[in-house]
Amino acid sequence: MSGSKRKWIYAFGGGSADGDSSLKNLLGGKGANLAEMASLGLPVPPGFTLTTEVCTAYYDNDRTYPDGLTAEIDSALAELEEKAGKKFGDPSNPLLVSVRSGARASMPGMMDTVLNLGLNDETAEGLAILSGDRRFAFDSYRRFIQMYSDVVLGVSHSVFEEILDDYKAENDFNLDTELSADDWEVIVAAYKKAVAENHDRPFPTDPREQLNGAMDAVFGSWMNERANTYRRLHDIPHSWGTAVNVQAMVFGNMGEKSATGVAFTRNPSTGENRVYGEFLINAQGEDVVAGIRTPQNLTKKTREEMGDDMPSMEEAMPEVYADLDKIFTRLETHYRDMQDIEFTVEQGNLYLLQTRNGKRTARAALRIAVDMAADGLITEDEAVLRVEPASLDQLLHPTLDPEGERDLLVKGLPASPGAAWGKVVFTADDARDMAQAGEKVILVRTETSPEDIHGMHAAEAIVTSRGGMTSHAAVVARGMGTPCVCGAGDMRIEEAQGRFTVAGRKVQRGEIITVDGATGQVFMGQAKMVQPELSGDFARLMEWADRARKLKVRTNAETPHDVQTAKDFGAEGIGLCRTEHMFFDADRIAAVREMILADDVEGREKALAKIQPYQTDDFVEIFRIMEDRPCTIRLLDPPLHEFLPHTEEDVQAVAEATGLPADQLMKRAADLHETNPMLGHRGCRLGVTFPEIYEMQARAIFEAQAAVEKETGVQPLVEVMIPLVSIAPELKFLKQRVDAVAKEVTGKTGVAPKYMLGTMIELPRAALTADEVAEHAEFFSFGTNDLTQTTYGLSRDDSGKFLNDYIKNNIYEKDPFVSLDQTGVGALIEIAVERGRKTRGDIKLGICGEHGGDPASIRFCSKTGLDYVSCSPYRVPIARLAAAQAAISENQ
Ligand code: ADP
Ligand code: MG
Ligand code: MG
Repeated sequence: MSGSKRKWIYAFGGGSADGDSSLKNLLGGKGANLAEMASLGLPVPPGFTLTTEVCTAYYDNDRTYPDGLTAEIDSALAELEEKAGKKFGDPSNPLLVSVRSGARASMPGMMDTVLNLGLNDETAEGLAILSGDRRFAFDSYRRFIQMYSDVVLGVSHSVFEEILDDYKAENDFNLDTELSADDWEVIVAAYKKAVAENHDRPFPTDPREQLNGAMDAVFGSWMNERANTYRRLHDIPHSWGTAVNVQAMVFGNMGEKSATGVAFTRNPSTGENRVYGEFLINAQGEDVVAGIRTPQNLTKKTREEMGDDMPSMEEAMPEVYADLDKIFTRLETHYRDMQDIEFTVEQGNLYLLQTRNGKRTARAALRIAVDMAADGLITEDEAVLRVEPASLDQLLHPTLDPEGERDLLVKGLPASPGAAWGKVVFTADDARDMAQAGEKVILVRTETSPEDIHGMHAAEAIVTSRGGMTSHAAVVARGMGTPCVCGAGDMRIEEAQGRFTVAGRKVQRGEIITVDGATGQVFMGQAKMVQPELSGDFARLMEWADRARKLKVRTNAETPHDVQTAKDFGAEGIGLCRTEHMFFDADRIAAVREMILADDVEGREKALAKIQPYQTDDFVEIFRIMEDRPCTIRLLDPPLHEFLPHTEEDVQAVAEATGLPADQLMKRAADLHETNPMLGHRGCRLGVTFPEIYEMQARAIFEAQAAVEKETGVQPLVEVMIPLVSIAPELKFLKQRVDAVAKEVTGKTGVAPKYMLGTMIELPRAALTADEVAEHAEFFSFGTNDLTQTTYGLSRDDSGKFLNDYIKNNIYEKDPFVSLDQTGVGALIEIAVERGRKTRGDIKLGICGEHGGDPASIRFCSKTGLDYVSCSPYRVPIARLAAAQAAISENQ
């Protein structure tokens, strides 16, 4: 590699540049945009960029630089001296530079920058004479020593801060601006002494040695601990490397006509089309964010709104501000996006030091995209691409009013976003009863289990003291769009006493608390909320998204409340209605248990006859809401023991409540116990053993369909789905049963049920034999939760214990239960699609696992040509947007 002639350095400044913003990978974001701005003729101090390839080569070769780099730096420096009209290390006219890191993706605060490099005792004197401002020269010098020592020599900031603080205290100074040239000279001497004491060598005086040190430090900072962690968290590959920018200094600390500042071309928090920024007079870059002095506003309007007396830049430096304002517009038009800009004013002359697409909240992203499309700056498709689908989550839930007062009680994991308040309850039944009485309740439990579903549904929010982000409470709450805080370990729940305690504070049942699922915080009392805004910009962007997408978006929902929510969010059908969730209500579970305890078909049919009216009513409600949208209803899926009580206590309670004998309950629960329930007696296997269960469900569906058609005149579009099929004859067997029920219902109601019958593809064997399965199935719905479990041979419920080790060691890139494994599980899907279509060209194809709401997985579904994705109600808008982005990218 070292023999090849590569260009390691790209120069910019003086109205032109070697590179431009298309070279972001090579020059880093900062370097590429500095080059681009220079070419646009904007006032950018000249400089040069050492490419990211230098960084990669540096790490590939045991932290040594490529051959020939020194010579390239020499000539780049010479060129820079020429452009700047100053000389590096020349006391009579010294060139000072900044050495700035800059990766491809911005990593704010992760890497280092050194300013004012090139100063030593001689050049500082020179700078003082040349500028006629001795104070400025020594202010710059002390800044340099502190920054360089911290970044390059590893002498901590605090060493210098202490010296300065002591000096200010001794001399009764408050602000840095009160220190004179003489004061700074004293400080500089003290700083140098401190470096000699805290480091093995004195502070380097040779500018070229200083430059080498800074370069090493910036390239070295690519692999520092915090940068590594940041990259891991943001999926940035270590191989990208950082560029290093060496740039002539301009000085915002040269007196009252000098300043430094940062600006967003639009408000990054609300998206309002108005410049938003701050500046400081007589200061250098980092002062604005360091919080040493309070910065001033850029515009008069903002200043007035904030009731600030300090003049805005618009007022203090009207001419410079007018130029700056023009540049804002120019940059925004050029980059066609909101810009985040850093600038400096040196004695009335404006310089731009950085521009990049500004980070923004979801709300701002939405507004900016819609406004820019409305103004014709970008197309509607581009607007759709500008908003991160997952970020919509922030907009769909009520949130805590940021201005409101609150009293923090305890903190746990942010398991499901949104905020809610309500009265504390400790059991699911209590939650349901109080909710039915019209109270808002928060369900507080150590952990939740499937038996708590009715209480979880009734609750405004859920808090658990145990369990992580993939615990039962977290998964179910996210599915329902209910705010949830998990694993609040400082909370001790004393259910028997009807209270919980946190650090000595007692909270009784019935007291009001507020839960913020986005931050994991729980507050005492009722905090103020802000409701989500789903009209306006949101509606516009969604309209554009719906126009662009090919995939339909359905929802996984079974309660009328969730179905309605999903419909309001734009669901075009139900992709998965899990009938078993309807069995947990107190009045039904008794009949369900009776059915399970029955010894024979007759006993079971008797119990099923009690359940059926409930099921029919459930379907009636759902069909009414969904009108002409298709509804896929899955017949019973989980193993029967999930409906039985487990602990001796529970058994006693159930026995008392239902009159069923406790010993029989115990015995049946023991009979039904399975070593490996995930692969056990569940799904269509239950239908094979107890066809009467599936027949009852089919009857309920068809009778509900007839009833709703009679009532509304619209025939509900019914899709009956058989779960966990592995071999075609299973489906054939059960289809015959369902078809027979349909005939029977026709006789009874006079209306012939119209329905499609299909299956979930959630076992590898079904995927591989999809051609055979499709003989009996009019649709496939990929149940990718189980398909992932069975393809990996990995239990989702147990994997939480070790999945992190897999992710930490880069064995799994991502949790395969969150983002679809496209190479493995995806291959099975592709096979099933191809083979299924071979048998039945118009077979309807969808996905209903949790992946149906994950943008990357949705992209895969779009590419694979599925007809729809189905996800939990609160993910519906996210899926609509992700599906649109997928379609737009496919066309590009
Ligand atoms: P970061 O990536 O942390 O923002 P930068 O490299 O942008 O670091 O530097 C931080 C600040 O230092 C800039 O915003 C600017 O105010 C100041 N700065 C950097 N280079 C120069 C320069 N050549 N002249 C004057 N100030 C500079
Ligand atoms: Mg910066
Ligand atoms: Mg399944």
